[in-house]
Amino acid sequence: MGTLHRFFGLLLGLSLPLVGWASIEVELVSSFTIPNEWVGKLTAGTPIPHLALIPSGGELHGYTISASDARALAKAKVIVGINPQLEPWLADWAKANQREKDLLWLSPAPLPSGSHLWIVPAEVKTMMRRLKKGLDAAGIETSEGNLVQALKEIESVEKDVWDTFAPLLPHERQFVTQHPGLEKYAEAFGLKVAGSILESASAESADPSARHYAELLKSIRTQKVRVILCDEGQNPAAAQQLGKDASLPPPTALTFEYLQKRGTPGDTWASMMRLNARKLAEALKQP
Ligand SMILES: [Zn+2]
Repeated sequence: MGTLHRFFGLLLGLSLPLVGWASIEVELVSSFTIPNEWVGKLTAGTPIPHLALIPSGGELHGYTISASDARALAKAKVIVGINPQLEPWLADWAKANQREKDLLWLSPAPLPSGSHLWIVPAEVKTMMRRLKKGLDAAGIETSEGNLVQALKEIESVEKDVWDTFAPLLPHERQFVTQHPGLEKYAEAFGLKVAGSILESASAESADPSARHYAELLKSIRTQKVRVILCDEGQNPAAAQQLGKDASLPPPTALTFEYLQKRGTPGDTWASMMRLNARKLAEALKQP
């Protein structure tokens, strides 16, 4: 990630006009683009600046904090993350810098298999409420109207995603993922994760073991799985190989990990959710 890229990412994350940027102290720093958008929704109508550390296109798992991240974190009034297991690098930084009291985890309870809770609407509603409470407690201005509107939008996305998957028959509802984490999403929408290529979400670029790969191939055949997913922007080699070995179509690339650059489809949580659902439903629907 180039410095210039990062610089523009920083600008886009701010809710203020660019004029006077250099003097702005960013008060709210989130781990990645999705919680940063939620912060923006709750503080809409206020001039409170906020930014995401990991820019669009960056991956959450195995992230390491850069020098400019550390500077932004040091100045932040409130730091927002999803869960210490998902963002261990943020938990470590807060501990080392005695900033744990300023770190707001939106879903602090222990997680099963690194679950991507930010794509599960019921969880997002809970996180949005927790975020508002946390910001209010820190003296950051939010509004009840903003929260109500955000919750309404989550419900409307949930309904649209349900409708998108509605035409799928029971045998069309299963898929293999690149890494664990989509189980709760699948559960929420009547789908099923039949297996994952990688055994842990934190090893996103690693290769699966030979034994795990053989077992996965076997279960694809016995369960008649037709769809393999990969993460857009990540190396799809293992997913492509698995597709070939299982005589399946090439993997379907989805982006659940970040929002797209502003002005492109998937640049908001709502459009990211709808876009992924459409792509996934299209891949799952058998002719
Ligand atoms: Zn992930």
